[in-house]
Amino acid sequence: MPVYEFECPNGEITEKLVRMDTQEIVCPKCKETAKKIISCCAFELKGGGWYADGYASSRNKTGRSK
Ligand SMILES: [Zn+2]
Repeated sequence: MPVYEFECPNGEITEKLVRMDTQEIVCPKCKETAKKIISCCAFELKGGGWYADGYASSRNKTGRSK
């Protein structure tokens, strides 16, 4: 079973092992309804951007010092 993140109305994030079709859980802290966060794809895109940015700037630095 995959781990999903849930956010309640108070902004608390709870990680929990649930079935894939689970859309919401009860927040263990405030007992409000916490809804599932879908974040896998956004995270992947962000990681790619960071990598490309770092590579480009390090090449630029090397060229300038010569
Ligand atoms: Zn909560």
